[in-house]
Amino acid sequence: MKGKKLKIGIYELTGCAGDALMILNCEKELPAIFQAVDIQSFLMAKSDNIDDELDVALVEGSVTTEKEVEELKDIRKRSKIVVALGLCATVGGIQARFQDPQKWQENFRQVYGETKMELPAVVSKPIDAYIKVDFYLPGCPISKEQFLNFFTRVVKGAPPESYPQPVCVSCKYKENDCLLKNGLFCLGPLTADGCGAVCPSHNLPCVGCWGPVQGGNWTSEFYLLQDKGFSREFIKKKMANFAGTKLSEFWKQFDRRD
Ligand code: SF4
Ligand code: SF4
Repeated sequence: MKGKKLKIGIYELTGCAGDALMILNCEKELPAIFQAVDIQSFLMAKSDNIDDELDVALVEGSVTTEKEVEELKDIRKRSKIVVALGLCATVGGIQARFQDPQKWQENFRQVYGETKMELPAVVSKPIDAYIKVDFYLPGCPISKEQFLNFFTRVVKGAPPESYPQPVCVSCKYKENDCLLKNGLFCLGPLTADGCGAVCPSHNLPCVGCWGPVQGGNWTSEFYLLQDKGFSREFIKKKMANFAGTKLSEFWKQFDRRD
């Protein structure tokens, strides 16, 4: 990838567009970014977008319609590298909590009544449910530093950073008093650490916005929280918020066994 400028496309599927906005939020660095690479498509930033062959495609949002499935497959076909940008693309986002289509219809009616609207054709899924994904940039939304770090590495031909440790590791380095130990509902042990434990460092429990860390011990944290007085339903709801579809199997087995 050295020599000529990389061709890059930034795409948004279903989500709040917070990750694309975070890229635009790199105000000081934006001119350098646009000079360093050839940004072929970025709907939030420019109007002269083209759907051509790409070196790197960044895809934000989860997949919730048949049209998005087709769009995503087309992006994959045209791109050497596909990156899942943000939590919705990585795990399905908060909207992926509702995997039961019937429950989904009920929720829709509760919010919109009998309003006629084109319903999503598929329940919300992360993009790797449909295509091969090369790299993941989790976070809800991603952070500016994370994006700049990623961007610099990609331009230099290096793989982006991964986040193999839980938030607790940074929290310990910072010598914070453990909120979980003090009875608060903290998901730090189950969450990928990319933020440097920013919330616990300000005395706020981690709600899991970077998504599940690989190898997290969900069973153990579940019983620990139950011992601290939190109800089963409350724990499940909180754990489901930012875990998307990645824990569906875990819950099925857990519910069967428990
Ligand atoms: S406060 Fe939360 S993130 Fe920090 S060590 Fe305790 S459980 Fe882990
Ligand atoms: S501490 Fe947890 S909730 Fe806070 S930014 Fe980090 S991952 Fe997100």
